[in-house]
Amino acid sequence: MASSTAIPTFSHTPIEAIPGIAVQARSTFRSQKTKPLEYRLTQLRKLWWGLKDNEAAIIEACRLDLGKPSYEAITGEVGWCLNDIIFVCNNLKKWMADEKAPDIDLKNSVVNPKIRKEPLGAVLVIGAFNYPFQLSLGPFIGAIAAGNTAVLKPSELSPNTAAVMQRIIQECLDSSAYFCIQGAVPETTELLSQKWDKIFYTGSSEVGILVAKKAAETLTPVTLELGGKNPAIISRFADTRLAARRLIWGKTLNAGQVCLSQNYILIDKEVLPSFVDELGIAFKEFYPNGAKASPDFARIVNERHFHRIKKMLDETHGKILIGGAMDEKEKFIEPTVVQVDSLEDSLIKEESFGPLFPLLPVDGLDEAIRIANEVDSTPLAMYPFSKKSEEIDRRMQPPSPCARLITLPSADAQRIVLNEITSGGASINDSFFHGSIPTLAFGGVGSSGQGSYRGKASFDAFTHRRSVTHTPSWLEKLISIRYPPYAGKISRY
Ligand code: NAD
Repeated sequence: MASSTAIPTFSHTPIEAIPGIAVQARSTFRSQKTKPLEYRLTQLRKLWWGLKDNEAAIIEACRLDLGKPSYEAITGEVGWCLNDIIFVCNNLKKWMADEKAPDIDLKNSVVNPKIRKEPLGAVLVIGAFNYPFQLSLGPFIGAIAAGNTAVLKPSELSPNTAAVMQRIIQECLDSSAYFCIQGAVPETTELLSQKWDKIFYTGSSEVGILVAKKAAETLTPVTLELGGKNPAIISRFADTRLAARRLIWGKTLNAGQVCLSQNYILIDKEVLPSFVDELGIAFKEFYPNGAKASPDFARIVNERHFHRIKKMLDETHGKILIGGAMDEKEKFIEPTVVQVDSLEDSLIKEESFGPLFPLLPVDGLDEAIRIANEVDSTPLAMYPFSKKSEEIDRRMQPPSPCARLITLPSADAQRIVLNEITSGGASINDSFFHGSIPTLAFGGVGSSGQGSYRGKASFDAFTHRRSVTHTPSWLEKLISIRYPPYAGKISRY
């Protein structure tokens, strides 16, 4: 089939249809049809072809919804999902296999103790707007792989991508097992009123709390992939050119609408001037004619979010060092570097989810660690930059001259920061590289989320590990020691 850019019209699913869809998902699950390996692989392959056939429409929908450059739509959306499906298909048989109980002694091995990997049932996946395909279909792929039936509710804020996703699901997958429901708060509220065997939610922490509360009423398990205030920490021993280039990448991709982007940068005062110079140089290299004229810089998703980010810039007491331009009609916000001097500044306190670079100068690593823990003690990610081992020497026992020779400066210096600041994940000397490793589980900690997914973790997120034993009848004589009366039995135990 030739890939066409035609995009279906987005329309809300009638609310009254939602309970019936939930019932259908449950009844199909009970029919057992989604459980065999071959069925799962067939659905995943069909999804792969659905994505491939709709590649041009996906790229166009990402452009319409977010001004997403096609390079970013291919690498971060359609290609991302295609690769995930291939990885899952290649490993699914192995993941589904029973696991023998670990460290089992001879006596207990007679009952063949093992873990069966069982699907949870009928599951609900709620997606966010910023990476509409990756963040919706990523968990959906895990749900199919684990043998569940599934309902997807994409974000209404990216309606074109939501409409393409619905077409792919309806045209390519088993329509009795997989569903796409479109809508905003009323439709999601109705969905959350149904009984699910798992809810997988990606989005803001505020809505995450609503989802968790609603799920708790029926003791439904949840995975929550939420936001956070991710720090980047630049030590006085960092390579400022490298830090500038990598942090610009992390905050201009998708115009900074990335949950993993650094929210603020704690920078040692000594290297502040050099870092700001390097930021200016790198911006020029990446966007020679400015970000607005570049085909490689996205737009803010809608007017509400544009005004939210604009308000943060209007309210800051910081000094704009680079950028600051905006165009409401285009929902364009220029990558903007602001030097702030207070933890109370809105640019530090709030998650910008836009291309803002607040820099807060600090007196050293101690202060940076204290501030990062004060702003958000459990961010989704953190990004320390340093290339010297002196920082370890300062805080740890001085290593012997011999140890000094074999110390790996960069990794060891970061270990201090890794130990003293908790986060869902971390990239050392980079911005969110860890989030792009397909076999690395991705998730938050504390207020930035619970549970994780990607690779095998996606399969695990939708799987119940069921412990099973099988006691043979011939064992009865040996195990009768467990029955009362107990008198005289303890010595033989
Ligand atoms: P959002 O919370 O506004 O929306 C997410 C989903 O929840 C959407 O499908 C939406 O329809 C639904 N929703 C919104 N309000 C609701 C309500 N009152 N009741 C029920 N459902 C509701 O989030 P967003 O704006 O799409 O995404 C931005 C936020 O998500 C940021 O905080 C970002 O950090 C976070 N995020 C986290 C991850 C992650 O993987 N950890 C990924 C992307 C975004």
